[in-house]
Amino acid sequence: RERKECPLDSELLGRNTWAFLHTMAAYYPEQPSAEQQSNMTQFISLFSQFYPCHKCASHLREDLKTNIPDVRSNTKLSQWFCELHNSVNVRLGKVEFDCSKVLERWRDGWEDKSCD
Ligand code: FAD
Repeated sequence: RERKECPLDSELLGRNTWAFLHTMAAYYPEQPSAEQQSNMTQFISLFSQFYPCHKCASHLREDLKTNIPDVRSNTKLSQWFCELHNSVNVRLGKVEFDCSKVLERWRDGWEDKSCD
């Protein structure tokens, strides 16, 4: 029988959303204009209002009160999202990711060329 696709649970939503957020950060400009920086800051704030896992969104809004997004470059934004994701990983008892490898994971592929 045909296998139907189902609505996302919070795990699948999370996995897909992190893929988008880290990829977006990796492809953000190296030298963003003042307007791009302001728009990215706003995007993250708006995202935290509408992310459709309400418990997650509420944690994120709390975090954003003290942890200001670093929107100065793709590298800095990628580090910022990596650290944000690690704080969620810690909260959920998952292993932390090595943030020096974030662009390999989400843009360039691993140094051993296993993604080529
Ligand atoms: P995920 O954590 O989804 O990670 C996917 C892949 O990203 C990993 O396989 C790894 O290759 C890579 N990765 C892992 N860590 C990092 C990192 N630090 N930087 C870059 N790449 C990394 N769930 C809850 O139960 N409670 C919450 O409060 C909660 N808050 C969330 C807030 C946000 C903004 C988002 C996007 C998701 C949140 N989630 C939350 C979902 C949760 O983070 C996971 O996405 C979900 O549990 C599935 O986990 P996973 O093990 O498949 O890997």
